[in-house]
Amino acid sequence: MTTTAPRDEQLWSRCDGCASLLYRKRLRRNLDVCPECGSHARLEAPDRVAQLVDPDSFTPLPERAVRVDPIGFVDALPYPHRLGAARNGTGLDEAVVCGTARVGGHPVALAVMDFRFLGGSLGCAVGELITRTAERALADAVPLVLVTASGGARMQEGALSLMQMATVSQAVAGLREAGLLTVSVITDPTFGGVAASFATNTDVVLAESGARLGFAGPRVIRQVTGATLPEGFQTAEFLLRHGQVDLVVPRHALRGRLTALLAAAEAGRRVPVPRQEPAPRRADAPAAAPGPARDAWETVRTARHPGRPTTLDYLETAFDGFVELHGDRLGADCPAIVGGVARLDGRPVMVIGHQKGHTTAELVARNFGMASPAGHRKALRLMRLAARLRLPVVTLVDTPGADPGVDAEQQGQAAAIAENILALSVLPTPVVAVVTGEGGSGGALALAVADRVLMLEHAVYSVISPEGCAAILWPDSSAAPQAARALRLTAADLCRLGVVDEVVPEPRPAAHGDPAAAAERLGRAVTANLAPLLAVPPATLVRRRRQRFRRFGAARAADGTGQRDVIRNGTRTEVAP
Ligand SMILES: [Zn+2]
Repeated sequence: MTTTAPRDEQLWSRCDGCASLLYRKRLRRNLDVCPECGSHARLEAPDRVAQLVDPDSFTPLPERAVRVDPIGFVDALPYPHRLGAARNGTGLDEAVVCGTARVGGHPVALAVMDFRFLGGSLGCAVGELITRTAERALADAVPLVLVTASGGARMQEGALSLMQMATVSQAVAGLREAGLLTVSVITDPTFGGVAASFATNTDVVLAESGARLGFAGPRVIRQVTGATLPEGFQTAEFLLRHGQVDLVVPRHALRGRLTALLAAAEAGRRVPVPRQEPAPRRADAPAAAPGPARDAWETVRTARHPGRPTTLDYLETAFDGFVELHGDRLGADCPAIVGGVARLDGRPVMVIGHQKGHTTAELVARNFGMASPAGHRKALRLMRLAARLRLPVVTLVDTPGADPGVDAEQQGQAAAIAENILALSVLPTPVVAVVTGEGGSGGALALAVADRVLMLEHAVYSVISPEGCAAILWPDSSAAPQAARALRLTAADLCRLGVVDEVVPEPRPAAHGDPAAAAERLGRAVTANLAPLLAVPPATLVRRRRQRFRRFGAARAADGTGQRDVIRNGTRTEVAP
């Protein structure tokens, strides 16, 4: 907003977005968001703090900014003169306000940058103050929230300002090692060295609506490349589409989103990590008895029914308080995989699942639930975040298979799936997978290396689609029904083979007939399977998970006799004649 008079005397402001003349008090009540066009005006750091934290909960850090001029920098004016002017103009010591506070009742350490102070530039004092804030978070074992607004490193401090990118990042790394949540809130504008360090290397990156973030500024890029920049370049929405931020959040929703994330992180920390080896779990008991046999091809068709509940449907019904997190941080946000924190029976969990849709338009928009490498990398990022925050992971598998496109191959589909299988194999937090519809091949397994693998009664799980199998092994693909029967891909079959631990019964005739009842049963089954896992120490959990999958091998034992065939498929051991 453009104003001319000193702040207290202002009655009116003109919106930078739509040029409306706005009554200042009304604008303030609306958190400095234009009620006409939704344009988010830049906030001064003290106002931002007041908007974000619980009333009267903010305590500034005792540390004060030290005035530095490490290289005696002079342009038209000596650097100390510019610093002095910034201090007088803003009433701040430096370009950041740091302290501790509560957000939605949850304690945090908080650093809020102020763009008015030398463009929010990152100098030695700013770097030191943010680092102290992070160290305070570590000492108090609370999350760190960083609100960024910066043109980049402070050139008047030379290479020492560049070093601050590393200094603050190391403090963020310390919190990561300690399993403490770090969140950055990107506000307009965030560029250069701040964008390329603590604005984006935190656990969760929220971008305020209208914020722009980039490494190089648009003017520089135009000068260097001569290119015309795409519409909306470097805006929050652009960043979301390109996998750079978790969420774009309007200002009025920031507190709520932060509160939900902080609540999840706090709950993870409240659960003591068990050290004792517990008694054998009930979860090791024999698998639940499968329901009456159905024709496999009919089951395939049921599993693909367009009315079948999707992951987002289950998140609406079986879970509460879902906060979706987006992006692989590398260049894309795959719509075929959704994930984020949610509550199941009151307990925060990380939910990751394939997303299909009910209409043709939805299915196309979600690529029919076929994940790209970016989708697998998003899933990987969320799994690792869950492990750091000690949140259990629940995966919902419903995919015909991973995206078989040219782009997917160029972007390393195979390696992306492989990395997820590896990561899940060592993930030190409980993982419960549910095959809810189609469990298609490697794309399914990329989310299903779990401590407990459940399957809805009319879901299928297979190494290849029946059509694909028929095309390869039968004379033609019309043999798909035969292939479906031969592949042993129903829940009952897979339960017998030990691939699946439990079949979750569906309402009659199937989940699409009564989605609410299906969700209720899914929620109950996941809760029951998760509960015993929470008491298992992480090392034991990982060891047992690997043993679970080790069972499926088959080999002739090299025990000297050469007589014994050991077939460990969970159901039988055969001895050769
Ligand atoms: Zn406006």
